Amino acid sequence: MNKYWKERKLWNEKIEAMSEEEMRELQWKGLKKQLKYDYENSIYYREKFRGAGLIPQDIRSFEDFQRLPLITKEEHRKVQQESLERFGHPYGLITCAPIEKIVRISSTSGTTGIPTLYTLTKHDVEVVNEMHARKYWRSGLRPGHIVLQALSLSMFTGGLPLSDGIQAMGLCCVPVGMEGGTQRIIDFLLLTRPQALIATPSFGEYLIEKAPSLTGMEAKDLGIRWFFCAAEPGGGIPAVRERLRKGFNARIFDHTGGGHAFHGICCGDEKHRGMHFISPDHCILELIDTETKKPMEMVDGAIGEMVFTFIDWEGGPFLRYVLGDILQIFTKPCECGFPGIRFNILGRGDDMLIVKGVNIYPSAIKDAVNRFHPKTTGVFKILLDQPGPLVKPPLKLRLEYGGSVKQEERETLKEEIKKYMKDYLRVNPEIELVPFDSILIETGATGKVKLIEIINKDNGMV
Ligand SMILES: [Zn+2]
Repeated sequence: MNKYWKERKLWNEKIEAMSEEEMRELQWKGLKKQLKYDYENSIYYREKFRGAGLIPQDIRSFEDFQRLPLITKEEHRKVQQESLERFGHPYGLITCAPIEKIVRISSTSGTTGIPTLYTLTKHDVEVVNEMHARKYWRSGLRPGHIVLQALSLSMFTGGLPLSDGIQAMGLCCVPVGMEGGTQRIIDFLLLTRPQALIATPSFGEYLIEKAPSLTGMEAKDLGIRWFFCAAEPGGGIPAVRERLRKGFNARIFDHTGGGHAFHGICCGDEKHRGMHFISPDHCILELIDTETKKPMEMVDGAIGEMVFTFIDWEGGPFLRYVLGDILQIFTKPCECGFPGIRFNILGRGDDMLIVKGVNIYPSAIKDAVNRFHPKTTGVFKILLDQPGPLVKPPLKLRLEYGGSVKQEERETLKEEIKKYMKDYLRVNPEIELVPFDSILIETGATGKVKLIEIINKDNGMV
């Protein structure tokens, strides 16, 4: 292998190694230019500025910038519809570039409502590809390595656009996709022998359980040395990471970012310290309070709803856009030495449940259940009488016990899990234990496993 490649730790050394101060300066320059561009090229953004009594020249500080209103997904949908009605195409209003410059429309992985569209020019596609390159290069992948892509291969931002990015940086991509089913993914794993696998953590766990019966091999003998988690919070959950690490004998990376400007990847060691935010030169990140929607201070450990603004972006540049993800950020320097802030995605704001005043995310329950592996398989469902966030106590869970758990041990196991959740999550759940493989793993179009099931009283738990 090329010696320089081997030793070069970062894809874009000039940008990725910048000090915080240098980066802030670059961001500010980019933001000012972008705001002017947005204002001049979008009717919608002009109205937003005017509504706040501002023109781009008035914005002289970050506080001024935060006076611009937030844009929610609901509003984005409305604007898309309005563009279709007024212009007969979805580009209008938010999209700033001329139509002939748009080369890609992709969509978020959202599971509810009408999809919201991202529009990209050739320049924007190159930005996205650069971000993928930054992530996989940091992980240690180099040309010559084979990556099997087992997420959804649809137009969603982590689908086909991701495969493009992998190829653009010079890695070999095997875009199998989860649509073909587990057997097909396994066939191509055996046929192409990738060193890296990109999948949902749930699929990884499933493969660990199923590999012996499907391939005659343990998952750790499949040759996977990099496992990239995406589309679910699992890659940031300690117990899930540990299972995947042992199960595949691979380094586990949590990473995020698709056809837009917000991208991150963790440094991939055993002690997870969140994902490094690797695209600050194209995205301004803010946190807002989930209830008051007021900007929060970006201090170490802060938890809030993510707001992003694209900079150096031509197609549909989002401006103070609320995506719905809840982030926890870390600002203390990371032991790996890479600069910048880190974050964990705790879940989507609309996944949050409130039980007796305690906020809880399905990812926290997943962590708790996985801590009891192999006494549990890690597969579970949260059963709700009605859609959240408010849950009438007790919180009902149905989870699979491991194959080696004897009947007389089940009651104790149930009590252990309950005690753990009471001590660490401050909820007192009602637990139903069921055998291995008896919970149907349902996924949405993006491969995300549905952890919540709405039950009616007639087929509820006994
Ligand atoms: Zn790090």
